[in-house]
Amino acid sequence: MAKGIIFDIKEFTIQDGPGIRITVFFKGCSLRCQWCHNPEGLSFEPELMVRESSCIHCGKCRIGCGHAECKSFSRCLKICPLGLVKAVGAGFDSSELAVKLKMYQDFIKINQGGITLSGGEPLAQPEFLIDLLRELKPLHTAVETSGYSSQQLFRQVAELADLILFDIKHTNPQVHRQYTGVDNEPILKNLDLLIKMGKKFIARVPLIPGVNDSAENMENTAILLRNASGLERVELMPYNLFAGAKYTVVGKKYAPSFNEKAEVCIFKEVFEKHDIKCSVL
Ligand code: SF4
Ligand code: SF4
Repeated sequence: MAKGIIFDIKEFTIQDGPGIRITVFFKGCSLRCQWCHNPEGLSFEPELMVRESSCIHCGKCRIGCGHAECKSFSRCLKICPLGLVKAVGAGFDSSELAVKLKMYQDFIKINQGGITLSGGEPLAQPEFLIDLLRELKPLHTAVETSGYSSQQLFRQVAELADLILFDIKHTNPQVHRQYTGVDNEPILKNLDLLIKMGKKFIARVPLIPGVNDSAENMENTAILLRNASGLERVELMPYNLFAGAKYTVVGKKYAPSFNEKAEVCIFKEVFEKHDIKCSVL
């Protein structure tokens, strides 16, 4: 019964695997993708979220309070008349979270859905993830991952989950490092492992203008995937112009070095040429 931290649970999601699902967002990620739209999912610690743009500067949240849960934030989480101050990141033990998620099981079964564990990066909380996957059985489980982990851990997770949603950000190691902060070598090794295991997976490619949306990178991605018996399809996810919307709320700055207003190129046909099913989300 491992402990972990999550930052959100979304009910009734339809793009994170088959059927209608519940998606759980693990808090914390080792990557720093310049286009990440979940800045509250990056740190492994609970964080303060303040919607400063609506603040009327009454100062009430800054007056000291005695609430134990507010202590580490130096702001009161309860007094704001507009409800602008909250903490993000809740600790759970795996059994407690599994019980909470299993409350949806009838609904999930009727809708041929399941539970998707996303993030942040679920594999960055290994014991919590593995215990949770075991405890959620027999519900259908999917894990969305950057693939950035040891091979031993990746294999264990791939064996336990029913479906892997595997993000592929760039095939070139230098460009991958430049835009995500990490090498793609362990990621590509885990992709290779997933393919050799014959595990069911969906490859997800975020399309970032001028970064990875070239025909050459799509061709290299298709070559990696073309003989994968477990591959259900490739999902291309064009850049979302709202990616930076939540950064100021968690006291961070959104400063991508690519031109986010440039048009995204969508080379769906590159995958189809290799007989790989491809959809655009
Ligand atoms: S209590 Fe709310 S409105 Fe007042 S200063 Fe704090 S965030 Fe702003
Ligand atoms: S891997 Fe996902 S959660 Fe982590 S920084 Fe990249 S986009 Fe954000």
